[in-house]
Amino acid sequence: MTGLTVLGSTGSIGVSTLDVVARHPDRYRVVALTANRDVQGLLQQCQRFRPQYAVMADLASARELRRQLRDGGIDTQVLEGMEGLQTVASLEQVDQVMAAIVGAAGLLPALAAAQAGKRILLANKEALVVAGGLFMEEVARHGAHILPIDSEHNAVFQCLPADFPRGLDTVGVRRILLTASGGPFRSATPGQLASVTPEQACAHPNWQMGRKISVDSATMMNKGLEVIEACWLFHTTPDRIDVVLHPQSVIHSMVEYEDGSVLAQLGNPDMRTPIAHALAWPERIDSGVSSLDLFQVARLDFEAPDAQRFPCLRLAYEAIGRGDSAPAMLNAANEMAVAAFLEGRLGFIDIPRIIGETLSGMAVEPVSSLEQVLEVDRQARLRAEQNIEQRV
Ligand code: NAD
Ligand code: MG
Repeated sequence: MTGLTVLGSTGSIGVSTLDVVARHPDRYRVVALTANRDVQGLLQQCQRFRPQYAVMADLASARELRRQLRDGGIDTQVLEGMEGLQTVASLEQVDQVMAAIVGAAGLLPALAAAQAGKRILLANKEALVVAGGLFMEEVARHGAHILPIDSEHNAVFQCLPADFPRGLDTVGVRRILLTASGGPFRSATPGQLASVTPEQACAHPNWQMGRKISVDSATMMNKGLEVIEACWLFHTTPDRIDVVLHPQSVIHSMVEYEDGSVLAQLGNPDMRTPIAHALAWPERIDSGVSSLDLFQVARLDFEAPDAQRFPCLRLAYEAIGRGDSAPAMLNAANEMAVAAFLEGRLGFIDIPRIIGETLSGMAVEPVSSLEQVLEVDRQARLRAEQNIEQRV
């Protein structure tokens, strides 16, 4: 039996993970589940999966969950806060950790899993954007293993040979092609973009996701974060990664080799496929996803992304090009701007403006410690908040 911790189990990825796990009770034992404030969601998951531990990041929510579990006669132990998240990411009886907390909040728990040498099923791309260098070092030092959950990176992983960590050049790879749906505003005019509401931004044509990543998809910052994520996961540089708009979201990404071969991974747009792949790797298990009906899909379209209408993609390429603390600043400013947009305090087209202003207002510095990364994150959030307040 594989012992599993699901960080962020009440979210979109967390729920899909438990859906796959529930299909294989003979293979997986849920050791720990975690959430931020969703007491009812975590309570129901505890009733169903009977984990040894449940963690609520929010302390008042932890008290409430503890009370409700006791009343219900369920003996799951409730831990709380960042310490609780780090504890359940590194328990001895845990083999695999699904890292599916959203944002930089997921960095420390994912890092704890790396330091405990776990197999990390990494959905939380922001952890790599914020601290990719340090994260990959800890993974190597402690013999941990990352399996990408992000559908594009999971596709690339499936199209690469097993010895890709020797270097993409060594294994004959010319470039990585990350596909992007283009989100709900792929063909919107600049005028239409100016009046986008949070509800419109969160209505993605192909994927059901949490609100933050839905907005990131609409601005295309999601693809920018994914370019940075791919650089770390596949030991490569941004000039070897191209973004291809592909509105059907059937090809999840591609790898081009020196001989001109292009390998692609296809499937229905359902996160249970990459989740099942990573859970069982190198084996294959049923994910609950139906067969791809190519006659129904009928055609696959491709376009170049429009940097004019989607400046976030350019900002992300610039940040990874500058390196050092720039990606951490980009991520912090983006998290603040997206939160302000979702709260109705900021316009959609102001999101890239806030990020650009924040980055140009701060010095980029080398990052050599976790403390330094966390300080950059804190400073960039303060700066971004000031920039947001100046606009409202
Ligand atoms: P979500 O908002 O649906 O869920 C987030 C989860 O994290 C919830 O369980 C929430 O309780 C928990 N959480 C939120 N803030 C927290 C905090 N401060 N401390 C502790 N826990 C906290 O998000 P999601 O769509 O499931 O995305 C999760 C991660 O996976 C993100 O990094 C996202 O970019 C990535 N991802 C998601 C998808 C998708 O299809 N949803 C696809 C690829 C990658
Ligand atoms: Mg993705």
